[in-house]
Amino acid sequence: MASPVLIWLRRDLRLDDSHAIVAALETGAPLAFLYVLDPAMKGRGVGHAQLGFIVEGLEDLQTRLAERGGGLIVRRGDTVQHLVDVARELGAQRVCANRDEEPAAGVVERAAEDALRGIGVELLVVDDEVNVPHELVLTKEGNPCRTYSAYARGVRRVLEELPAPPHDYDLKGRLHPTPVPEIPSVETLVGRPVSLRSDVPGGETHALARLRAWRDDGYLARYADDRDLVAEPDATSRLSGYLRQGMLSPRRALHVADRAGAPKYASELLWRDWFKYVLHHHPDLAEHCIDPRYDHIEWIGTDEHFEAWTRGETGFGMVDAAMRQLLETGSIANRARMVAASFLVKDLHIDWRRGEQWFRRHLTDGDLASNAGSWQWVAGTGLDAAPYFRVFNPDLQEKKFDPTGAYVNHWAPDRPLRIVDHGRERDITLAAYKAVNAELADPS
Ligand SMILES: Cc1cc2nc3c(=O)[nH]c(=O)nc-3n(C[C@H](O)[C@H](O)[C@H](O)COP(=O)(O)OP(=O)(O)OC[C@H]3O[C@@H](n4cnc5c(N)ncnc54)[C@H](O)[C@@H]3O)c2cc1C
Repeated sequence: MASPVLIWLRRDLRLDDSHAIVAALETGAPLAFLYVLDPAMKGRGVGHAQLGFIVEGLEDLQTRLAERGGGLIVRRGDTVQHLVDVARELGAQRVCANRDEEPAAGVVERAAEDALRGIGVELLVVDDEVNVPHELVLTKEGNPCRTYSAYARGVRRVLEELPAPPHDYDLKGRLHPTPVPEIPSVETLVGRPVSLRSDVPGGETHALARLRAWRDDGYLARYADDRDLVAEPDATSRLSGYLRQGMLSPRRALHVADRAGAPKYASELLWRDWFKYVLHHHPDLAEHCIDPRYDHIEWIGTDEHFEAWTRGETGFGMVDAAMRQLLETGSIANRARMVAASFLVKDLHIDWRRGEQWFRRHLTDGDLASNAGSWQWVAGTGLDAAPYFRVFNPDLQEKKFDPTGAYVNHWAPDRPLRIVDHGRERDITLAAYKAVNAELADPS
C-alpha cells in the first residue's frame, strides 16, 4: 500500500472544505489523520467545556472518516513527539496542516517543522482559518486596516475579484484505513468528574445540521432583528464553538449567509475574521492594550468583587444571569457577554485581562482572538473599540433586551444585594480614563 500523507488536525476538526485536505489530495497519496490531545492545551486557556466539545468532535470525526473508509489516529501527550512517531510509523513523506494563528501554536508549528525535517518529512502548512488571507486585506492605500469596517470592505473587494467558495471533494477511496482509536472521555483527561456541559453537541455533523436547520427554520432571516434577545436561544446561530474548533468552515458559513441574502449575519461572521486579523498584527492582544495609553490605567477593583462577578452574585440581573449561564453551559449570548464584561471593567474597575482569562477558560467557544479583541472593544482600549465613555447601564440593557424577564428569571431569579452603585462607579471610571488621557497629552 502507498505510504499516506498525514494530516495534522489542529483547530480544523472537519472533513468539509479544509485547505489542508485539498493540499493533501493533490499529492495523490492516501490520507491519514492525526489529532494530539496535548496537556499543553490547558496552558492555552482550553477549559473543560471546550475539551468536552473537542472530545465529541473527535468521536464524530472518527465516525465520518470510518464511513468513507478511513479513520482517525488520536494520541495523548506531546504534539511534536507524536507527529514524529506517527509519521515514522506510517512511512509518511509529508504532513499537511491548516495554520493555527495563535502565537503559542506558531511555536509548536516551528518545533514540529524542525523535528519532522530531522526525519526527512516535509511539513506543509496552509491558511484556512479565515475567508481571505490577512496579507490580501489592505486599505485602498495598501496599509493594514485599522477599523472593522475598512477590513470588511477590504475582504469584500478581494472576494469580488477572487471568489473563495467552499471546496467540494470526494474522499471515498482516498483514505488510509486506520484502526478505531480509543478516544478518552473528558473526565479521563481532566482526572475528575466534569459537570460543565456545552449547550450544543460537538462535531462537524452537528455543526452542518445546525447551520442548515437554523437557516431553514427561518431564524437566519430574522437574525438582524432578533439577535439581541437574550432569552431566545435560537435568536443567534450558536455556531461559534464549531467555528472555534474548525468543525465548521468559515467559508461554508459565509457562503450560506451570502446565498441567503443575510448581510447582518455575514458581517458578524467577518467580526471573527477581523479579530484574527487584529491578532495577526498584534500578537500580544491578550496581554497589552492596543492603544498603549490605557496600559496606564490603575485598576482599583477588589478580589472580592471579582469573585462575586465570577459566581454571578453582583445583584445586577443581566450580569448575574450571564455569569451563571457561563458556569453551567460554557456559553453566553453576545449581548449578555457585553453587559457582563462592561460591568467588570467599568463598574468593578477590574482589569479586562482578568475577565478575558476567565471567559476564555469557561467558554466553549473561548478563542484568544475573538475574546481578547472583544474584551478590548468593551474596555475601549483596542483598535476599533467602543469609546471609553460608552458605559453600559446594566438595568437599561436588561429592560431592553430581556423585556419579559425570562432570561434573568431563568438564570438568576434570587436577585442578591447589589455590590455597587452603577451611577457612582460610572463616574469613577470616566474620571480614571480621562485622567490617563490628560496625563499622556500633557506629561509635564
Ligand atoms: C466580552 C466578549 C467576549 C467574547 N469572546 C468570544 C470568544 O471567546 N469566542 C468567540 O467566538 N466569540 C466571542 N465573542 C463574540 C460573540 O459574543 C460570540 O461569537 C457569539 O456570542 C457566539 O454566538 P453565536 O454563534 O450564536 O453568534 P452569532 O450571532 O450567530 O454569530 C455568528 C458567528 O459570527 C461570529 N461572531 C459574531 N459576533 C462576533 C463578535 N462580536 N466577535 C467575533 N466574532 C463574532 C462568531 O463566530 C459567531 O458564531 C465575545 C464577545 C464579547 C463581548
